[in-house]
Amino acid sequence: MSKVLVLPGDNIGPEIITEAVRVLETVNQKFGLGIELDYAHLGGAALDAVGEPCPQETLDKARASDAILLGAVGGPQWDDVERHLRPEKGLLTIRSELELFGNLRPAIMYPQLAHASSLKPEFVSGLDILIVRELVGGIYFGEPRGIRTLDNGEREGYNTYKYNESEIRRIGRMAFEAAMVRGKRLCSVDKSNVLEATILWREIITSMAADYPEVELSHMYVDNAAMQLVKEPKQFDVVVTGNMFGDILSDTAAMLTGSIGMLPSASLDKDGGGMYEPCHGSAPDIAGQGVANPLATILSVAMMLRYSLDAVAAADAIEKAVSDVLDQGLRTGDIYTDGMTRVGTVEMGDAVVAAL
Ligand code: NAD
Repeated sequence: MSKVLVLPGDNIGPEIITEAVRVLETVNQKFGLGIELDYAHLGGAALDAVGEPCPQETLDKARASDAILLGAVGGPQWDDVERHLRPEKGLLTIRSELELFGNLRPAIMYPQLAHASSLKPEFVSGLDILIVRELVGGIYFGEPRGIRTLDNGEREGYNTYKYNESEIRRIGRMAFEAAMVRGKRLCSVDKSNVLEATILWREIITSMAADYPEVELSHMYVDNAAMQLVKEPKQFDVVVTGNMFGDILSDTAAMLTGSIGMLPSASLDKDGGGMYEPCHGSAPDIAGQGVANPLATILSVAMMLRYSLDAVAAADAIEKAVSDVLDQGLRTGDIYTDGMTRVGTVEMGDAVVAAL
């Protein structure tokens, strides 16, 4: 028996999670997986319910689970709350408390969606990139940080970008291992021409290459990587980078595939436990309209089954079902192109369940 904790979150979070849970329950029955579900609050929903964005009860339930499925958190409803209570702080807290240091973000171009990309189809068809982003270090967590008033009365915002050797090594290992089971090419992205923290990053990643002689390692500055991602994205196999660069580059890679609504992600700890969530946010602009694309969350369920629950056949079945509904021409608004059938969140969920 495995335990999965479900965190619906905010805005479109509960809408897309409902469909993903229906899909999970379908494979649970079909493949006899014995998965038990539990629920908890995170983000704005937790703040509204109990006054903090990452309650202790949520952390306790998360630690007692084999995997976590998250919708998304945040939204303008909580814009005015104090910084330490913001919904996004809840997300950062659960990631760091559970030591989910490795964020795997695949950007895969479904051939059916080649025309939904903002790049020409020939640049993106067949695209299959894995971005490995360090998730619990770097400038998003570095201390000291804050906003202070200088002697001249002017205010100054400041953050600290730092990585120690062991943090770099553990994410490097995850990325090299991922490259070994893919195309055996790893590109490490840094800004070592300017930032000392990434001089060390490059040195450590380079020193690890000897342990993975089959992997072809390259290095790229982040500004060039951003350019290359939109110029010639198929040159990449696995990309490894720090928290902030990975945040930005993975959203860029997401758009190459047509929609951020298609992309799952996994955040893993050192033992393979993890939290699975779509790459997108809580999309407050479309919340409550029943139009959000649930496929990124449904594909996150597939990643969860594959990486944390050892249920590869069920994961394959979900990925095939998603491909089948795209073959049927069903599209939510974010991936809609002329001639296709426009559907809402629930209809898309229905179609995946039916395909299963
Ligand atoms: P977003 O990803 O929520 O939305 C960006 C754009 O993509 C919007 O136009 C939105 O409608 C669209 N979009 C996103 N998901 C979609 C889906 N499934 N189907 C169709 N369209 C979709 O990013 P944002 O607007 O910058 O942030 C909104 C809120 O989400 C903020 O509070 C932000 O802090 C939060 N956020 C949370 C997470 C997370 O929970 N992991 C990640 C990013 C942003």
